Amino acid sequence: MRIARYVHDGEVAFGVVEGDEVAELASHPFGPITFTGNRRALAEVKLLAPVLPSKVVAIGKNYAAHASEMGGEVPAQPLIFLKPSTAVTASGETIAYPPSSERVDYEGELAVVIGRLCRDVPLERADEVVFGYTCANDVTARDQQKSDGQWSRAKGYDSFCPLGPWVETDLDVTDLRLTTTLNDEVKQDGRTSQIVHKIPALITHITSCMTLLPGDVILTGTPEGVGPMSIGDEVSVEIEGIGRLVNTVVAR
Ligand code: MG
Repeated sequence: MRIARYVHDGEVAFGVVEGDEVAELASHPFGPITFTGNRRALAEVKLLAPVLPSKVVAIGKNYAAHASEMGGEVPAQPLIFLKPSTAVTASGETIAYPPSSERVDYEGELAVVIGRLCRDVPLERADEVVFGYTCANDVTARDQQKSDGQWSRAKGYDSFCPLGPWVETDLDVTDLRLTTTLNDEVKQDGRTSQIVHKIPALITHITSCMTLLPGDVILTGTPEGVGPMSIGDEVSVEIEGIGRLVNTVVAR
């Protein structure tokens, strides 16, 4: 299923995307799915970020070629950091370029959406806590990532975590093409098979530290080819089998 979150006539709802329509759900999608019977044309709704995570857990340097372009190697254990829930924004919304930075980068990533409360998840049961997958852009103020020595500010500005356009629940993500395009020029062109610490290992590692809740998001790292954006640019992250996350950059 392809699960979207949207607003129609001032009402926020989840729905299942079927072709160019969306079938409205009676409640959130993390339990039994029931429909209200309302159907809307996709063109008539405004998509929102597909989930409202309590936290976004991101992985640094999880593709060898990207670790190398950053001047390092993939760490032996997954390197995790947090992006605040307030950084999340939807496809079609803007990325606000802060005046305090002179270098804001795109990082196209596969995002995992968690479906149930979980802690200390063993490797062989990691699949059970996955709800689905979406596209993400781990927007980063690269200058502040270096100067601050840790990444909370550089990765945490409002709008620095576009997610969407929806969550795909039935998908084998072991080898999908991921591209990031800036103003029609392909800048990143990787495959999820290049992910070093695989999704089950990430879930086991993260939940050995913190409880994950339904709707929480794991960003699995970015392929090589990261680079800067400018005010006025259009950036998109597209993953085979999921869709295309599109945002424009504006001055904050
Ligand atoms: Mg990243």
